[in-house]
Amino acid sequence: MNSNIKWKIDNDFNLLKENLVTRNYKVEIFENSDELIEYFKNNIKKEKVIGVGGSTTLSEIGLIENMIDSGYNVLNRNKAGLSREEKHKLQRAALTSDVFICSVNAISIDGQIINIDHTGNRVSAILYGPREVYLIIGYNKVCWSLDEAMNRARLFAAPLNAKRSEEKYSPPCLKHGQCVRCNSNKSICSVTSIMETCSEKGRIKVLLVKESLGF
Ligand code: SF4
Repeated sequence: MNSNIKWKIDNDFNLLKENLVTRNYKVEIFENSDELIEYFKNNIKKEKVIGVGGSTTLSEIGLIENMIDSGYNVLNRNKAGLSREEKHKLQRAALTSDVFICSVNAISIDGQIINIDHTGNRVSAILYGPREVYLIIGYNKVCWSLDEAMNRARLFAAPLNAKRSEEKYSPPCLKHGQCVRCNSNKSICSVTSIMETCSEKGRIKVLLVKESLGF
């Protein structure tokens, strides 16, 4: 990485960490995804049941496959060949698993976390699900205001999430190539959450990775 960019990311992550800690989150900063994978292996016991959210970030890191290969009990909703019903069952089970791991759509430098969900399974698990929640966030998700974070989540991430699921859904953004702020029954943007604080101190861990991850 360019040393000037590294300098900026270091400073931004340090500021973001300070702001998240005042909002009751526990925060760790990682140089790269390999460090992050080691962190999980050192901090999660193998007997724990792990739920995961749908996430390009997790796919890019290869975290789920790595943990399954290492003997962890992951409720793998991405397993090839699952029926819709089987996937829903795993998503429901993830709400009461021991651990939940996912990413987010955007975060403001002040520490406000934005997620837009189709069914709400990810948001539900984060807000009132497992006792341990881990949010993996690459530098590309950091925005400079709440407005910018909301726009990132809706105008950038949501159409891309529609695109990656185009075999299942057909929201208007797929046809237009842009979000048209639809309210149709084809919308994948049913739920938008803004997390201002972690209501139970330290329950949610924010893991900041100095890489561009997901979208
Ligand atoms: S067009 Fe609808 S489904 Fe697509 S990103 Fe916008 S609100 Fe979401």
